[in-house]
Amino acid sequence: MLKSAICFDDVLLIPQFSEITTRADIDVSSNLENSVRLRVPIISSPMDTVTESTMAAALHKYGAMGIIHRYNSIEGQTEHIKKCRHLVRDDDANVGFAVGVSGDFIERATAGVRAGANLICIDVAHGHHALMRYALETLRKTLGSNIHIMAGNVATLDGVNDLADWGADSIRIGIGGGSICSTRIQTGHGLPTLQSILDCSCTDRDVKLIADGGIRNSGDIVKALAAGADAVMLGSLFAGTVEAPGEIVRDDNGNPAKAYRGMASKEAQVNWRGKSASEEGVATIVPFKGPAINILKSLELGIRSGFSYSGCQNLSTLQSKSNFIKQSISGVSESDTHIYKRSK
Ligand code: IMP
Repeated sequence: MLKSAICFDDVLLIPQFSEITTRADIDVSSNLENSVRLRVPIISSPMDTVTESTMAAALHKYGAMGIIHRYNSIEGQTEHIKKCRHLVRDDDANVGFAVGVSGDFIERATAGVRAGANLICIDVAHGHHALMRYALETLRKTLGSNIHIMAGNVATLDGVNDLADWGADSIRIGIGGGSICSTRIQTGHGLPTLQSILDCSCTDRDVKLIADGGIRNSGDIVKALAAGADAVMLGSLFAGTVEAPGEIVRDDNGNPAKAYRGMASKEAQVNWRGKSASEEGVATIVPFKGPAINILKSLELGIRSGFSYSGCQNLSTLQSKSNFIKQSISGVSESDTHIYKRSK
């Protein structure tokens, strides 16, 4: 019997009795431990059109976090880490950076920590892999237990348990769900991100889960958190903002836009490696959105409101108390704002 999988749009959270009188009283923070605490449980993706120093600094100031991408030289990446720290002028700044599982990853990780980062993200497309075990065990041995190591991506409970046993503090969950991702088309593999979170939240390991890929709005964030995620990772929602790397360009109608591309897209691979192998992402442009703080504020308001509808004061209560229900295809279209779609 084939198992079925739940996507974000397949479910809704059932509204519950609430005693919360003001949404400002809700605590949406998340403690990822090992020196990483988020006021809002949002992390930006380590992608070259999403996170460099400007984005990481803006997110840190808001109480979220950015992961500086690894598609540059070690010197280039450490410059971004230093610049981010210098902007935020805070000894406890949350600054994350990405490394791979081979090549210069030990040197890169050591340089990043020396430059002042407090989170390393071991960033590969298929993280449930022998090379990930090698990278995690090596970095733990080299850098000790005080540095927060995030690893991924994986989609299954087995993946989470293995990465936790190999030394990860937090794990990115989601294969094939990203807005710019073509992994499922190219390889036939993947799992809806919400289903992965539901599966992986059954872990008995002491590890934090980061829902990554396919999150489109604050409603998806609330669902991911309710399903067991400790934070979410966002790419497309931050692409196109002032703080996203890259120049403003014009779309076909002359409107301002910025590039957003998968790191496994042909364009990104050719840029960073000089050639492309399996192409599992696309490159596009997205409308220019203005400052990232506008996106953050709107997401935070939606998250607070979401906690309130479930009558929950904080993340742990949301995870234990929230109740999902499946909706039909009719429900999916009824759930979307539908007045503009009416023909009569
Ligand atoms: P989004 O928030 O839906 O845009 O998804 C962003 C996530 O997509 C990232 O955090 C990565 O996990 C994933 N991702 C980035 N580049 C690629 C790619 O080229 N192919 C597949 N997934 C990607």
